[in-house]
Amino acid sequence: MKARRKDPPKEVVIATRNTGKLRELEAILAPLSLKLISLKDFPEIPDVLEDGATFSENAGKKARTVVHLTGRLTIADDSGLCVDVLQGRPGIFSSRFAGDKATDRERYQKLLDEMTGIPEDQRGAEFICVMAIVSPGGEMQTVEGKCRGRITFTPQGKHGFGFDPIFFVPELGKTMAELTPEVKNQISHRGQALKKLKLILPQFLA
Ligand code: IMP
Repeated sequence: MKARRKDPPKEVVIATRNTGKLRELEAILAPLSLKLISLKDFPEIPDVLEDGATFSENAGKKARTVVHLTGRLTIADDSGLCVDVLQGRPGIFSSRFAGDKATDRERYQKLLDEMTGIPEDQRGAEFICVMAIVSPGGEMQTVEGKCRGRITFTPQGKHGFGFDPIFFVPELGKTMAELTPEVKNQISHRGQALKKLKLILPQFLA
């Protein structure tokens, strides 16, 4: 009897050039045997201007733009850190919080400086991640993940990226940057959003 030829893995574009995000998305989506392509493979595609008023608008805009330019099923995320005492700032402006060219360290140091004198019980914050998936036919869905914690007084830990060294997760007694990638992916805003995305992914791959 002839062996059935295996279908090639389905291609999905991950609309980011952020190495930290990409690593996390690849790890979480690995069991699905997809062929993940990032914007690093499309150097000609310019950065999409994140001018929406919400995470959801920005994620949707990124995903729709990249579908239009690549013709492939695309997942985009927009994420950020919302600090209670700063009325949700830096929020959608997290990546540009200390200017376009700032390093992760400069960004979290600026936040620590702004929060000088704020006591521990008022340092609550949450990471938010909205993921948009858009098919080449234009069908779109969004999912959201959140992770609550508090801002530390000093940075701790070497894993992760962005604000991870100053984001303390009370249930685990560690900052995000002290968690292994596997544990971070279990509890993070991105991990939570991806769990929801995995449930709707089959209808987009069919
Ligand atoms: P954007 O989604 O590309 O607009 O960037 C979001 C920004 O939020 C990142 O550049 C980080 O500064 C911050 N951020 C988002 N997710 C995380 C995370 O998992 N850990 C630490 N910082 C994050």
